[in-house]
Amino acid sequence: METVDCVVIGAGVVGLAVARALALAGREVIVLEAAEGIGTETSSRNSEVIHAGIYYPKGSLMAATCVEGRRMLYAYCAEHGVPHRNCGKLIVATNAAESDLLLSIKGRAEANGVEGMRLLSAAEAVAMEPNLQCTAALLSPATGIVDSHSYMLALQGDAEAQGAMLAFHSPVNSGRVTDDGIEIEVGGTEPMALRCRVVVNSAGLHAPAIAQKIAGMPSGRIPTAYYAKGNYFTLAGRSPFSRLIYPVPVPGGLGVHITVDLGDQAKFGPDVEWIPSIDYNVDPHRANKFYAAVRRYWPGLKDGALQPGYAGIRPKIVPQGAPAQDFTIQGPAEHGVPGLINLFGIESPGLTASLALAERVRAIAGP
Ligand SMILES: Cc1cc2nc3c(=O)[nH]c(=O)nc-3n(C[C@H](O)[C@H](O)[C@H](O)COP(=O)(O)OP(=O)(O)OC[C@H]3O[C@@H](n4cnc5c(N)ncnc54)[C@H](O)[C@@H]3O)c2cc1C
Repeated sequence: METVDCVVIGAGVVGLAVARALALAGREVIVLEAAEGIGTETSSRNSEVIHAGIYYPKGSLMAATCVEGRRMLYAYCAEHGVPHRNCGKLIVATNAAESDLLLSIKGRAEANGVEGMRLLSAAEAVAMEPNLQCTAALLSPATGIVDSHSYMLALQGDAEAQGAMLAFHSPVNSGRVTDDGIEIEVGGTEPMALRCRVVVNSAGLHAPAIAQKIAGMPSGRIPTAYYAKGNYFTLAGRSPFSRLIYPVPVPGGLGVHITVDLGDQAKFGPDVEWIPSIDYNVDPHRANKFYAAVRRYWPGLKDGALQPGYAGIRPKIVPQGAPAQDFTIQGPAEHGVPGLINLFGIESPGLTASLALAERVRAIAGP
């Protein structure tokens, strides 16, 4: 059986960032990816927003890694020529109760270390974004957008330049904790077995299932996977807004918001649809709810303007209705298995937080 120092399961944005961090630290790294290429699941099915770190509870891993990761990501994109834009975002209130909420959102953001948050009157907001209708707004200048695929390619390039190897069509089927490290069984066209010192389970939606298949991993420490789909609808033509426009948040997600991509195309979403199993189809009928939600702050949205876009699935580890769950990084201190690091519930802002999450994993992986 071949022996390797570190195996990363999953070549999404987080797995790639982890592989890069381990490789830069001089570790031998193999990334095992079931699909034919990098980032084919959640990492290519999201809003591509560089989040400022506004909403997360103070002291949570989400808050800390979002703020840290955002600063690292802007610097990384600038250094590596990854297309991105620090366009800013407005959180918009459409009635008095929502206007009151903006103040508490601002307070939470500032407690998390988010820079530059500013309350705006309706007139100030409309001067910035003439198509907007609101009673007040909160400006987040630190928010931006990134070309997530270019970012992942840059991470892959860095990791490979430091000697990391990526193996595609390499699904991890099972594992076993032994006195000599963790044995991993890889299926696919060229099945193999590897003995590893460190295994980072960064398989996104499948991370709980993989943890279940590692004999010796205490099953009581493995969360149940739940899926909350986010559907997007797109708008033909140029975006009516130059900043990202978000309503005040709703339970389970951030509300139906408008984001722009680097080609100035607008997309709406994601909504929140709890589903029993992975399914990326977008039901065109869901557009009806989007029209109502979006017209509260953009009355100019015309009938028939929305086209079904794509969907992503939030890798939840708590069921619908339960209090929101923080990112979970489980190392030996949590589950007792030497060398095993599980990443569970890495939903939004995982793209923004990826470089900061990778630093934490590298620290747990040891020297
Ligand atoms: C609707 C939506 C919108 C979002 N918007 C944003 C946003 O705007 N900004 C932001 O910061 N974050 C956002 N996120 C969060 C962000 O997209 C995720 O946190 C991030 O992409 C997670 O990356 P990952 O590498 O953990 O998982 P993934 O990208 O899912 O990668 C996991 C990889 O593991 C592989 N894999 C699975 N099983 C196996 C196996 N058995 N063997 C080998 N490989 C396997 C998969 O093929 C996949 O490539 C959003 C998420 C969703 C769902």
